[in-house]
Amino acid sequence: MENRNFIGFDPALVPSPSYVVDLSALRQNLAILSKVKERSGASVLLALKAFSMFSTFTLVGSSLDGVCASSPDEARLGREEMGKEVHSYCPAYTEESLKDFLRYSDHIVFNSQEQLARLRPSLNTLSAELNKSVSIGLRLNPEQPEADVPLYDPSSPFSRLGIPVSEFDGNNLDGIDGFHFHNLCEQNSDALVRTWEAVERKFGTWIPGMKWINLGGGHHITRPDYNIDELVQLIGTIKSTYNVDVYLEPGEAVALNTGILLATVVDIIHNGMPIAILDISATCHMPDVLEMPYRPMIWDAGKPGEKKYTYRLGGLSCLAGDVVGDYSFDNQITIGDHLVFTDMAHYTMVKTSTFNGVRLPSICTYDPVTGEYTLVKKFGYEDFRSRLS
Ligand SMILES: *Cc1c(COP(=O)(O)O)cnc(C)c1O
Repeated sequence: MENRNFIGFDPALVPSPSYVVDLSALRQNLAILSKVKERSGASVLLALKAFSMFSTFTLVGSSLDGVCASSPDEARLGREEMGKEVHSYCPAYTEESLKDFLRYSDHIVFNSQEQLARLRPSLNTLSAELNKSVSIGLRLNPEQPEADVPLYDPSSPFSRLGIPVSEFDGNNLDGIDGFHFHNLCEQNSDALVRTWEAVERKFGTWIPGMKWINLGGGHHITRPDYNIDELVQLIGTIKSTYNVDVYLEPGEAVALNTGILLATVVDIIHNGMPIAILDISATCHMPDVLEMPYRPMIWDAGKPGEKKYTYRLGGLSCLAGDVVGDYSFDNQITIGDHLVFTDMAHYTMVKTSTFNGVRLPSICTYDPVTGEYTLVKKFGYEDFRSRLS
């Protein structure tokens, strides 16, 4: 995967540390998603939760239909920076947040019928005030566990996400235009097919009254082994059976394999094994490495012991567990060497923190077609300070 992207990239031409997005790789993903739109007739939205690098939104918006948001701030970012459709879902709205959601959204999805009933009067008043109507939907819980990791499984027992069929009131669907579910994480079309079967089995009676169905995210569409034909076929079946518009809201698939995190070796110490301290932090800059957890790939590095020299790679914070992992290299690494962590565009920039005052990596783009490097954003002391008081 590292060979396909970042062709001709020279780490010396961007500041360290930096997230760098390969615009050509992003265009490739968008081309795949455009094709899915064209073949299936579905609308495709970028899930901002995964990737909110708004300097790319003109490009993203030239292929996709808009964004999905889960907070008023995400909704606003989508509306102001992309200017296309905004579909919002939040586990719970307050009167105050609803007003902001309403201002920026085209679709609003509720997590419970009780909450919608409670907020309906405010929704009507606010819609009149803003002279705006939104399409209202309900999030369903398919109770069809598919995600491998419980942290990412909305169908897990006692899940708070979506309405389980046992709580669903089919007599109370006035003003509901659509159903939404989001049940997958980094999955292929087979998991979507099983999820759809569960949704249809449990909620099928009520789908015919709907205008749209939103199939959520977690579809790993831009991965080489993803079965696009099966996805297109399923969407076709849903559309023709129920005469509904279909929405997909992938996050990760939009930015998959488009970004790197460039780091530099700051020191090398020894404690039973060589340990390299880098100018990044796992906990601050790639928290999923510790949360998911998973092992990121590094250009030209192997598993521990696979190549001649093995190092533990650690970060700049004082957290004892701020360790990316153990990696081996053909040559000894030395202070000042660049290391390139792959697939770092999604669920990174959106999740960073300035914990311990560790400075945020810069954000850059690289376009292999023109050879252009752009420093989009550099962070400083003020970014740390402004989050505290
Ligand atoms: C997280 C999320 C997505 C995007 O998921 P990916 O795994 O990044 O594709 C879409 N919709 C909802 C409601 C989400 O919570």
